Amino acid sequence: MSEFVIIGFGAAGEAAAKRLKELSPDSKVSVISDEKDHFYYRLRLCEYISGKIDGKALFVDDAIYLKKGIDIFRNRAVKVQEGNVITEDGTVHRFDALLISTGGIPNRMRIPGSGLSGVYTLRFFQEAKEIRKNLGSCSKAVVVGGGILGMDIAEALHSAGKSVTMLVREKTLGFPLLTPENAKKREIAMKSNGIDIHFEEELAQINGKTQIESLTTSKGNNIEADMVIVAIGVRPNVDFLNGGIVNMHRGILINPKFQTNIPSIFAAGDVIELAQESSDPIYHKGTWGQAYNQGRIAAENMLTFTGGKI
Ligand SMILES: Cc1cc2nc3c(=O)[nH]c(=O)nc-3n(C[C@H](O)[C@H](O)[C@H](O)COP(=O)(O)OP(=O)(O)OC[C@H]3O[C@@H](n4cnc5c(N)ncnc54)[C@H](O)[C@@H]3O)c2cc1C
Repeated sequence: MSEFVIIGFGAAGEAAAKRLKELSPDSKVSVISDEKDHFYYRLRLCEYISGKIDGKALFVDDAIYLKKGIDIFRNRAVKVQEGNVITEDGTVHRFDALLISTGGIPNRMRIPGSGLSGVYTLRFFQEAKEIRKNLGSCSKAVVVGGGILGMDIAEALHSAGKSVTMLVREKTLGFPLLTPENAKKREIAMKSNGIDIHFEEELAQINGKTQIESLTTSKGNNIEADMVIVAIGVRPNVDFLNGGIVNMHRGILINPKFQTNIPSIFAAGDVIELAQESSDPIYHKGTWGQAYNQGRIAAENMLTFTGGKI
């Protein structure tokens, strides 16, 4: 009986755990998650913030995975060795094949005032919960970043009845993913809803004593605000692997089989970079669907690596 361990219970980790159990019901599949909540649809966090959905639509109960024979350990993986993962509580999880699917972590701004209360990023349910809890005392919100996530957050806050300003470094929304035509359409729609968009303007300073009161922008404008959500991209969540056995660039370097330099260790989702022989590694800018599919394929490769059949 093979033993599989998966670090991270997001899109890639969940898909891999289910696929392994589907293909090899007798094998031992353990998932290690550093989030205290049940598995949830991260891409629905904005709907949760706006109040369109509640926790029921977001979460999948652990019981569903336990019934499939998937064990869930709520702890943080702190060390990866050949054949073992060690979690913060000192538990050693033995594996024949390991999947690292620890996703991304939001970039933060190192500017004066960034530690004040009312400044958020959005990646995890606990952040969404905190934002939703504090919406009651917020009337003016500022979203920093004009990417897909920044736009979704701005619309969620607007539909929750807040006055919303966006600070966008670029000249258009959704750069570089949206075509100029689609970016313009989205801009017109958002502006007609009353969202104030400042292009080519960045956040320079956050002002207040303990709680945010206003912001100063790179153009010297002062904007009143009681909440700021910073959505300026994510980086691969790999800090716990630093100095370890897995080769990394920005993310974990993998070959086309989602395998790292250690043959028994695989990686998938927002945490990976595809190693190239003749050029820089390619960073896979994450989507839910990509992470999910990569998790499934990585699971199949993990199974065949351990001698199992698909
Ligand atoms: C608000 C929001 C909206 C989005 N909307 C969309 C959308 O509309 N469409 C779309 O395609 N994508 C969307 N995305 C992106 C999508 O959610 C991600 O691309 C996807 O979740 C990546 O999956 P993953 O499995 O690689 O990582 P994640 O889903 O981030 O899961 C990684 C998990 O690993 C855990 N972890 C990290 N380190 C450790 C450790 N050391 N030990 C144990 N556990 C650890 C993390 O806590 C996390 O639970 C959105 C993201 C956000 C935040």
